[in-house]
This record gives sequence, C-alpha cells and structure tokens, in this order.
Amino acid sequence: MKNSNPYNRRAFLRTFSYGLGAITLAPAIDTFAFAADRKLGIALVGLGGYSSGQLAPALQSTKNCYLAGIVTGTPAKASSWSAQYKIPQKNIYNYENFDQIIHNSDIDIVYIVLPVSMHKEFTIRAAKAGKHVICEKPMALNAAECREMIAACKQANRMLSIGYRLHFEPHHIEVMRLGQKQIYGKLKSLDATNGFTWGNNKPTWRLKKALSGGGALMDMGIYAIQASRYTTGLEPLFVTAKENQKSNPELFAEVDDTIQWELEFPGGLVSTGKSSYSNNWSTLQVEAEKGQFELSPSYGYGGINGKTSEGLMKIPNINQQAAQMDDFARCILDKKATRVPGEEGLKDMKIIDAIYRSIASGKKEAIQI
Ligand code: NAD
Repeated sequence: MKNSNPYNRRAFLRTFSYGLGAITLAPAIDTFAFAADRKLGIALVGLGGYSSGQLAPALQSTKNCYLAGIVTGTPAKASSWSAQYKIPQKNIYNYENFDQIIHNSDIDIVYIVLPVSMHKEFTIRAAKAGKHVICEKPMALNAAECREMIAACKQANRMLSIGYRLHFEPHHIEVMRLGQKQIYGKLKSLDATNGFTWGNNKPTWRLKKALSGGGALMDMGIYAIQASRYTTGLEPLFVTAKENQKSNPELFAEVDDTIQWELEFPGGLVSTGKSSYSNNWSTLQVEAEKGQFELSPSYGYGGINGKTSEGLMKIPNINQQAAQMDDFARCILDKKATRVPGEEGLKDMKIIDAIYRSIASGKKEAIQI
C-alpha cells in the first residue's frame, strides 16, 4: 500500500476535526481519509504483450492503484521489469512460489494476464492468498470454470473482476445509454464484428486449443458479444452459429477462424455478429425505430469513432486500462460492487459455449441461464 503523504493528511484532519470540537467524529473522518487516499498495489501475473504494452504503462497514470509487483516465469523479465518499474525484489514472484504472496501486504490486487487455460488456476490461487482479482478476458475455457472461479472468490471474500476495459470507455458508455434507454426508439437490429488478420505472425498459444479454449471467437468475438449485451441491456436466449471455411486450415487447425452467429433476445430482437482471424473487423451498428448509431472502429485501445443519425459523436478517447483499474481499486476501497464482476465473464462464456454447441449440432441452441 502506498499512501500519498498519509501522515500529513491524517494529522491535518485530526487537528481540523478536534479544532471543531468534533472529537467523536474524528476517528471516522480519519479512517475515511486514509482509505480514500490509499493507492492499492497491483501485481501483474504474466508479462506478455498486454501487460508490457498496455497495463504496465497504464499503471503509471492510475490514481487509485499502482504497479507493486510482478509474477513471471522468465527470470530475465523479472530483472528488466524490476529495473524499469522500480519493483522491489520482495514483490517479484514466479508461478511456483506465487502462493507466498499471501504474506505480502504491498499487493492488494492480482491481475491475471496469462493464456486462458491458466486463468482458473491463478484466480483461485490468488483468492486463496487473500487477494482481490482481475482476470483477463475470456474469463476461462468454459462456463463451468467461470463458476468455480466465482465460487472461490466468494468463499475467500475477495472481489473478482474481468478485464472488460470497454465498460469504462466513453463511446461504449454512450452506446449503452442510447440502446438501453432507447433514445432512438426500440432497437430493430444490431450487428457487431471483431477480428484481425493473423497473416504471417508467428503461431502462439492463441492457436493451441488446450491453452486458448478456441480461436477468434474467444479472443475477438467476445467483444462483439459483450457489445450486443450491453447495448441492448438484455441477455440472449438462443443462438444459431456457423463456422466459415478456414482461410488457412493448417494454421487454424485447432481453433476457429471466422464464425458468424445470430443471438435471439427476449422481445424478438435478433443481433448478428462475426469474429475472425483473417479479417480486420471492428464495428458495432445499431438500427432503431427513429435513428441509427454506430462505432467504427469500435473495440481498439484508442481511435474509437462514433456516429449517430444526428452526426459524429464528439467524445474523447481515454486510457481505457487506467480507467478500468482505477475503477476496480475505487470499488475495493469504497466496498462497492464492480460493474464488470466474474458473473459478467460467465454470461459471455455461456454464450460462447452455446455458439460452439450450435456449430457442432448445426442447430439453434439455448443459452443456459
Ligand atoms: P502473450 O502471449 O503476449 O503473453 C502471455 C504471457 O503468458 C507471457 O508472458 C508468457 O510468458 C506467459 N505464459 C505462461 N505460461 C505460458 C504458456 N504455457 N504458454 C504461453 N505463454 C505462457 O499474451 P497476451 O496478449 O498478453 O494475452 C494474455 C491475456 O490477456 C489473454 O487472456 C488475452 O486474451 C488477454 N488480453 C486482453 C486484452 C484486452 O484488451 N483486454 C488485450 C490483449 C490480451
């Protein structure tokens, strides 16, 4: 825990309260000030592309949390990160001695940024070590694993959040408002696509089913599924999906390349969506009775553009990761629920499980609630 000059602030409040004669109020004010000023320590587990490119840099500008520790299987990364981010040796762990983090009061939150197959294990170990957890998307290999993770965090009385950064992004917050409040009337259609072209990039864990759980649907499609849910504010009941011919059957031998789906929502709305490792897609398009709105590109770390039938959305792009982590730290400090709890990850995994079932059966599948 790092405090921004807590002594002075606390001393000031104490004097101030006593000065007013509010002796009985003083301890409460004092505790509140201490809690509100505290920066929570985050330990990143897995120092790959997302941790090094986005999360660690974002943690340099966060207000409520800071990069306190790292967990890595690569000793060379331990020393380069330690030097770059001034992380003390006592806050550096590997995957074997990770459970010792239970004794480290510098670390309040463990952020899991590993291949999907490792999310469940590290979430449960972190909760058992008494830490709050942020787990990256997709939450786990399937809905059953998500349930175990939620139960473990509940049992340990720790908060669990999923790395759904777009819930904190102003364009996406605006489409939630436009859709859920039906600003342009009842929604008539919604289409969401997300994908990138793998091209000649080296194969990684993302293409190994045992590590990733699946391909572009798990990795990219999840954003489009999320967008359909939070734009409508509804949970879909049924899904029909199919997988297109793979663009590179050898490269994508174990995982899906392009999938398309239709989600049936209560009230009759049907949303469409697509995910791909061979198309650069990033869109959200919504038609309502009295107008339209869209984001394109829609799901990146920045550069999001929005437009409605009335013109361009004049909304700034922000540091999404900083906003997401600061909000979670704030929720812990204020004992408030996070808007992206484990249950939110579970809802997406239930849909993803049903999409894979529908591809296998060739039929419409119910999404078990
Ligand atoms: P990456 O391949 O760049 O990094 C993975 C890290 O896991 C590496 O440090 C690697 O050393 C470590 N690792 C440990 N055991 C491993 C194993 N058996 N095989 C492979 N790597 C192993 O991946 P990434 O892009 O950083 O993704 C990590 C997680 O973050 C995934 O869940 C991914 O979906 C998520 N992610 C989220 C966003 C987002 O915008 N929210 C963006 C990128 C990645």
